[in-house]
Amino acid sequence: MLRPNIAVLAPYSSARDEYSGHEAHVFLDANENPYNAPYNRYPDPLQRELKQAIARVKQVPADYIFLGNGSDEAIDLPYRCFCRPGVDNVVAIEPTYGMYRVCADINDVEYRPVLLDDNYQFRADELLAACDEHTKIIWICSPNNPTGNSLDRNEILKVVDQFQGIVIVDEAYIDFSRQLSFRFELKQHPNLVVLQTMSKAWGCAALRLGMAFASPDIVHIYNKVKYPYNLNLLTQQQAMKAISDTVSTDKWVRMILGERGRLVEAFAELPICLKVYPTDANFFLARVTDAQAIYDYLVERGVIVRNRTRVQLCHNCLRVTIGTRSENSELLAALRQYNA
Ligand SMILES: *Cc1c(COP(=O)(O)O)cnc(C)c1O
Repeated sequence: MLRPNIAVLAPYSSARDEYSGHEAHVFLDANENPYNAPYNRYPDPLQRELKQAIARVKQVPADYIFLGNGSDEAIDLPYRCFCRPGVDNVVAIEPTYGMYRVCADINDVEYRPVLLDDNYQFRADELLAACDEHTKIIWICSPNNPTGNSLDRNEILKVVDQFQGIVIVDEAYIDFSRQLSFRFELKQHPNLVVLQTMSKAWGCAALRLGMAFASPDIVHIYNKVKYPYNLNLLTQQQAMKAISDTVSTDKWVRMILGERGRLVEAFAELPICLKVYPTDANFFLARVTDAQAIYDYLVERGVIVRNRTRVQLCHNCLRVTIGTRSENSELLAALRQYNA
């Protein structure tokens, strides 16, 4: 599966890789400044302490965890590890999160989108039929962005079982759904990678911390290719705090889900609303009478939603993130005053 140059790669070996014990007390190995603790020291390149904490919360062994500078890093790395530019390709559902295509384009890897059906579901056979001997990765996002729905679990498992390459399931929104995470399938499926993030339910988008759960073989490759100190100390410290405070996260998720129910119900009653699609995420997709005009009207009022009208299968659709109760009420009030 690996690109030949990655298979033979001798990774950079930092001072912190060569000596990582805690017993020593004089560190003269990394050309650091001895003053300004703790920021003078390079952070742990493998984020061991943080991974132990995440392993406990996520119930995944620490050696099955890769941590990246946002999911962005965990989306870019598989291209750099597995895909030969100009030769290999990847397959993905469409519509979905835009970063899979951007990273394919940057890495000069062919991107093969396979259109979802009218219910935003997919069939494993269609994804598999789009693959050839140069297909290295299949991208599946569930709950999907921008549609909001979870994809059929058995179809996903079928893809993982039958595809010879890497299947990446992006679960950025899993905490807002009742679906069982695919991270519990890793032992049976060494070709599976599951992405999660601290940017949504954990309320830490500014920290830039994405998680990839995968077999230790894949984690090892990612660790070889990543920048040595990809997670800075501040992020590691703040993430330790966030991960040890599951009470806040659970409370936020409950409030967001409560508001989601209220907002979806009220939105569906608006004259401008043609359909609200089922959602398992902290946002919903709605088809409206005129997405561009309504988007522009809301911008005038200082309320920003995402206009997805130019996305395939999303004509005249707006994607609305669930905010606080008062934010959601402000959106509804503005839309009730809208005159087409
Ligand atoms: C928001 C989102 C992410 C999160 O990306 P980060 O880089 O971790 O902030 C990942 N995947 C999808 C599908 C998303 O919508």
